[in-house]
Amino acid sequence: MKVPIKHIVIVGGGTAGWMAAAALSRLITERRDLRITLVESEAIGTVGVGEATIPPFVDFQRLLDIDEAEMLAAVQGSFKLGIQFVNWGKLGDSYIHPFGNYGYEIGGLSFHHVWHHQKTLGDNRPIQVFNAETMAAYFGKFAKTDGQQRDDLPPVNYAYHINATAYAGFLRRYAERRGVVRQEGRVEHVALDGETGFVSSIRLDSGQVIAGELFVDCSGFRGLLIEQALETGYEEWTHWLPCNRAVALPCNRDDGSPPAPFTRATAHSAGWQWQVPLQHRNGNGHVYCDAFMDADEATDILLQNIAGKPTADPNHLRFVTGRRKKFWNRNVVALGLASGFMEPLESTSIHLINTGINKLVALLSLDGVTQAQEDAFNRLTGKEYARIRDFLILHYNTTTRTDTEFWNYCRTMSVPDSLTEKVELFKLNGQIFREEDELFTETSWAAVMMGQGIQMQGHNAMAETLDPAETRRELDEMEKSIRYAVQHMPGHADFLRQYCPAPA
Ligand code: FAD
Repeated sequence: MKVPIKHIVIVGGGTAGWMAAAALSRLITERRDLRITLVESEAIGTVGVGEATIPPFVDFQRLLDIDEAEMLAAVQGSFKLGIQFVNWGKLGDSYIHPFGNYGYEIGGLSFHHVWHHQKTLGDNRPIQVFNAETMAAYFGKFAKTDGQQRDDLPPVNYAYHINATAYAGFLRRYAERRGVVRQEGRVEHVALDGETGFVSSIRLDSGQVIAGELFVDCSGFRGLLIEQALETGYEEWTHWLPCNRAVALPCNRDDGSPPAPFTRATAHSAGWQWQVPLQHRNGNGHVYCDAFMDADEATDILLQNIAGKPTADPNHLRFVTGRRKKFWNRNVVALGLASGFMEPLESTSIHLINTGINKLVALLSLDGVTQAQEDAFNRLTGKEYARIRDFLILHYNTTTRTDTEFWNYCRTMSVPDSLTEKVELFKLNGQIFREEDELFTETSWAAVMMGQGIQMQGHNAMAETLDPAETRRELDEMEKSIRYAVQHMPGHADFLRQYCPAPA
């Protein structure tokens, strides 16, 4: 029997909890008999990392009608045009996985086929010159080209770097203004209904009992409701993505260098280091595998490779890569770290919170919870997780590095069949199928595969039917307009100063 939803209880006030609260707060209207409570514990705190995002996160702000400049100023935010990967294919290598596409379709063909055909005819230009985001990133430039700022320039796809703690605070103010009630306290007990097995209430350390009909578990790695109460189970992927530790350490940029408009992921001997430039500091961290490196060595490597002085003590984190067997179980929907975790190599965790919220809002009926909702949510989220997993594995498995045991393991491990097929088809003739609602575009797959050193041996045969001279002219025009656009963009730091300056 369906129980009408009158009270939604969100457990956890990290990025996931406050993103969910902000989005769901829009459901509270005078016409609906609906309350939303968020419970969080200051004593437990949040993971506090998670600062690099991807473009759909920009849409999340729009959905919530958030003023972008105001939000970025509040979170010391900067713009991000892609991710630079250093030392991944081999030591000394570097490439950018850009937001936005390489070129545009010509004759109905994805650009990389046309580019490859031209290459066989002697055009040696790298594919990167046909991508505005890559070029702007290399020159440290940025402009918003959506009509607000520069409508003479082609569209530039971007995301943000944010201070995660400040962003949660920003959303807290947003959600509370719209009627979400925040309850401080530690959840000590989760009560289940004897008949249905649904969560019926939670009890806090103060003794307060909070009952509800729908619970959103945003309690972080511990999965207080989805795992500890409902024992949903976890599917582990450490055999494919062996990193299981991280040490995070923000630093200042005393040297006065401007914030780069991209995230950097530098591979080390048993993992990799992130650098996320905010307006006044860099977020840094080293993700590694404890079977190949201990915490002291990981911290030393990080300290040797950061740009400025640390502004906090090293924050050591442990994780197990994988996913809950169900993300929605009975009347509990898990979001964020409570739902699973994949390392932040492609900045996908906050994105998964975002898409989880979108699906929850789309499926939600205040008449009650049904099996169909649960099944759809789990099926769709499962596919999203698997596609992202494959994309992450690609970065490791296609390395040619032989300098450490860690890279030897990654290079020779067996990978999911879905990924093997993807790589084979790309090598054969550059074919990339973007399946269903897959997050990563053809350009994403092409950028990482080529960046890792995988060569296309052929291209779609239809490219041969295009007029070579005409195609060459189109490519010339494309390159020229991108170079013009990038030349006329302000520096990223100048843009931030003018558009969304954060207090120093
Ligand atoms: P948390 O931040 O852990 O919040 C959990 C909340 O639950 C807290 O409010 C806590 O107080 C509360 N809670 C827990 N137990 C109880 C209890 N018993 N009673 C009451 N309250 C309780 N994502 C990206 O998109 N980009 C990145 O660059 C990125 N980098 C990352 C780097 C690392 C090393 C890690 C580990 C993660 C990274 N992530 C990144 C992921 C990102 O940090 C998380 O997805 C995001 O912060 C969401 O966390 P959360 O809200 O699920 O959990």
